[in-house]
Amino acid sequence: MPYKTGPWGIQAKLRYEKRKAQRPIPRFPIDDRFGNKNPMWGRKMSELTKERIRKTKVGKLNPMWQGNAVGYGALHAWVKRRLSKPEFCSKCKSTSPCDLANISQRYERNLSDWEWLCRRCHMMKDGRMKNFIESNRGRGNVMQDLP
Ligand SMILES: [Zn+2]
Repeated sequence: MPYKTGPWGIQAKLRYEKRKAQRPIPRFPIDDRFGNKNPMWGRKMSELTKERIRKTKVGKLNPMWQGNAVGYGALHAWVKRRLSKPEFCSKCKSTSPCDLANISQRYERNLSDWEWLCRRCHMMKDGRMKNFIESNRGRGNVMQDLP
């Protein structure tokens, strides 16, 4: 190893120290910029500034807004926040609803395309109940047909 002049890494360390010595002295040393030493300490945003910031973060202007490419879970959450839960399932009007169901099955970002259903109605609507009965029959369990 003819090029080895010392322990591995010593060249890098020397380079680092040389650069550190050349670094200009910071105008505000980092340690002195916390709390009341921070240049923003005590300054308040004007109502206008706050309003402007608020407006840039709402709805379509929000940087997180994904339009119709939004994921299933996020869309559900979005609808849930806006569509208030009624007392009864909007289909059978007897049970309290617990599922948010999409009417067109296209999962649109459109509140009129969503309804609150009870578990049973939701499953019937999606055809899941039928599948459930079929699969049970296949295993030898007999279940009554649903009306
Ligand atoms: Zn129902």
